[in-house]
Amino acid sequence: MSECIIPTLTSNEVVASKSVLPDGWKADLSNLKGLDLTQAVLELLRRTTSRLPQDVIDALVKGRDAEEEGSRAFNTLNDMVRNILLADGHVTPLCQDTGTVIFWVRHPYGLSQAAVKRQIREAVKQATKQVYLRPNCVEALSGKNSGTNMDPFHEDHPVVHFEEWEKPGIEIAVMLKGGGCENVGAQYRLPDAAIGAGRDIKGVRKCIIDAVVKAQGQGCSPGILGVAIGGDRVTGYEKSKEVILRKLGTKNPKPAMDAFEKEITNDLNTLGIGPMGYGGNTTVLGVHAEEMFRHPASFYVSISYMCWSSRRLVMKIGSTGEVSFD
Ligand code: SF4
Repeated sequence: MSECIIPTLTSNEVVASKSVLPDGWKADLSNLKGLDLTQAVLELLRRTTSRLPQDVIDALVKGRDAEEEGSRAFNTLNDMVRNILLADGHVTPLCQDTGTVIFWVRHPYGLSQAAVKRQIREAVKQATKQVYLRPNCVEALSGKNSGTNMDPFHEDHPVVHFEEWEKPGIEIAVMLKGGGCENVGAQYRLPDAAIGAGRDIKGVRKCIIDAVVKAQGQGCSPGILGVAIGGDRVTGYEKSKEVILRKLGTKNPKPAMDAFEKEITNDLNTLGIGPMGYGGNTTVLGVHAEEMFRHPASFYVSISYMCWSSRRLVMKIGSTGEVSFD
């Protein structure tokens, strides 16, 4: 009989005690021009790389407990839970691949995006030096690795998206997007005769099923799928990643899309692919889908596949400068 791991993460107090931020650190939002978020972003990365979000852990455990005890699917999911506990306890990366580092920054008027980008880049360099992150950024043709995770040609890695909003606080979300799961993402242009997909929700469904069947567990299933319906080739893929930031188990605000997400998740879990492709009922942990604009001549379905090691975290800086992580 398999040993069934009960996941109990280290307490929030222990996590806080390992913080790289000084005790009681607050951002001085009265001086946006002089704000330095380097250490706060470093702490965001430290937490993200070693600790999975609770909703992902809950979904993995639910999947494991729905598999037959002792089956390959059960044991694989149980090993994932064991992995989660080891990484959390030792503050070490959850996976050897710490991914492409993607940020979304939402900020009030007055914050310098150039300054925040410099600080984020510095935090990524420090995180790489301290081995929270593996140096994953290599030159496309030569494969040469600078060892710092900095884009050697431009400033495209780490990836940073900015959005100004009309709130006093700041939110910085980060996602560590593994290379294996990125490889099994897909973009479809509808109509697609090869899979019999037309320009409607049935066609979208066929695209999603086709992508998961083609992946066959590669990209380290059970996966979380981000799906953008519409957009252009760039905005569709960007949106398909952004929707993965939504917590598993939360409702899509659009009821029809929420129903679609639930239905397609159930359907994918009847394919028998299972965790890591070893068979079983847990092929995906969830599907998040969003409809976008499109040009009348184009209909894209962009699918980002996030692996079970779904590392994402949001740092929230409230109006009085206090920091929290969610
Ligand atoms: S796909 Fe995810 S779990 Fe698999 S090796 Fe890459 S980062 Fe790790």
